[in-house]
Amino acid sequence: MNVLEKEKTWMDSVIKEDQYEKYMDNGKDFIDDDEIWEKLNGNKNPDPKRIRDILQKSLAIQTLEPDETAALLNVKDERLWEEIFEMSAKVKRKVYDNRIVTFAPLYCSNYCVNNCLYCGFRRENQKEKRRRLTIDEVKEEAKVLAGKIGHKRLIVVYGEHPLSDARYIADTIKAIYEVKVPTKNGYGQIRRVNVNAAPMSVEDLRMLKEVGIGTYQVFQETYHHQTYARVHPEGTIKHNYQWRLYCMHRALEAGVDDVAIGVLFGLYDWRFEVMGLLYHARELESKFDGIGPHTISFPRLMPALGAPFVQETKYKVSDEDFKKLIAVIRLSVPYTGMIVTARESADIRREVIPLGCTQTDASTRIGIGAYRESYNRQEAERQQFLLGDTRSLDELIRELAQMGYITSFCTAGYRCGRTGQRIMKLLRTGKEGQFCKLNAILTFREWLDDFASEETKEIGERLIKKEIEEVKQKIPSVYPREIFQELIGYYERIKDGERDLYF
Ligand code: SAM
Ligand code: SF4
Repeated sequence: MNVLEKEKTWMDSVIKEDQYEKYMDNGKDFIDDDEIWEKLNGNKNPDPKRIRDILQKSLAIQTLEPDETAALLNVKDERLWEEIFEMSAKVKRKVYDNRIVTFAPLYCSNYCVNNCLYCGFRRENQKEKRRRLTIDEVKEEAKVLAGKIGHKRLIVVYGEHPLSDARYIADTIKAIYEVKVPTKNGYGQIRRVNVNAAPMSVEDLRMLKEVGIGTYQVFQETYHHQTYARVHPEGTIKHNYQWRLYCMHRALEAGVDDVAIGVLFGLYDWRFEVMGLLYHARELESKFDGIGPHTISFPRLMPALGAPFVQETKYKVSDEDFKKLIAVIRLSVPYTGMIVTARESADIRREVIPLGCTQTDASTRIGIGAYRESYNRQEAERQQFLLGDTRSLDELIRELAQMGYITSFCTAGYRCGRTGQRIMKLLRTGKEGQFCKLNAILTFREWLDDFASEETKEIGERLIKKEIEEVKQKIPSVYPREIFQELIGYYERIKDGERDLYF
């Protein structure tokens, strides 16, 4: 068999129809395009009183009904939108307080058998230089990220290809966890590896579970069936809408219980897509005992070399609408984490973080092998899409601290079994925040000692003092005195160079 034949045989073996057909209802999936439009059209001109009632429901951390989300999406009055923004910020604070989590993407391979019209990695893009990192190279990248920049969380990203199959993905995850680098006062290591890769079978997902996958993230890109079929050409694996739509069902079946969904905004009408995300969250909650998406992502389509579709689309999302969709997602699925990435400019990130975002990336590079020092900057031109914000982690953390946000490097949740149903319950009742606040203080202290510039350290220390004081004020109503003493004990030990102490 030649290479192409081998590739074709592999492609034919990927999709296992029985693994999604069993979830379908008489051959229909849970996204009914007509029903979504009926909801959007049937909730026009919503009464302000009804909108305010819906906002109260979100504040009680309850997932909204499709009619309720559709009503929010139909608000026209800009003053009412101001109330919506205020409430989305309030809901975010109630569930996640002033914490923000940072991570970096690590692109491992850009070989891809698919041909998504919007992506620089698509098969027909001859201009793309194809590369797959060796396991040693993956370790080198992880060393820079963990030892020089100070990241504790990565999202590893792969094109869909036999060269980056589940076995390779598992090997890269294992290799990353093995990296441990001495730092100024302690050591750096990656403590959580999330994965953004193609939909997989239950068996492959079990393999990733074994090597310690954090969150499994797959974006549906668009929930609109016809648009989906058009931008993911026939004859490719990705053309199969249902194989993708049900991949989180398979993940949960395989025991990977932190799952992440998303839409690539700009392919179709943004209001329709927000409804799609809501239907997806509700479907997961109903089939898996209340486990909904751990995070929702909402990337906007960015220019990419060799992907002319980006210029053609008539659904580009303006900055104003971007803010609205973020607020409505926050209110519709109030417990979920929300990720804004470096695709967006610094100005936009500044504006949307307070509206509901809980995670963001920094020091981001999306070329294959781009974190090592010898990386050829010209290669950066040939990447999946173009970035909007290339600031360093130190700069971002400093700015966030100035805005009153504490960067949390906490990865305790999944290591202590706070995933799936347990995390959902904690998030819905606001209890997750109690652990997180303490772990945010401890991990921020670690990071300041190991990686911060003098300027960032100074601002960060002021923030830490304030956070510790807040915990103290909540004795005994929220924190028992012994917990506070334990916190101070851990804090002093971290200052002396111990690492990875958490609640
Ligand atoms: N190949 C896997 C897949 O398609 O799911 C995972 C990797 S893919 C590189 C990760 C995500 O990048 C896609 O899900 C898509 O939403 C996003 N993406 C692709 N092209 C983009 C573009 N031009 N602008 C912004 N995001 C893009
Ligand atoms: Fe391949 Fe993913 Fe890019 Fe599509 S979005 S071309 S599947 S890497």
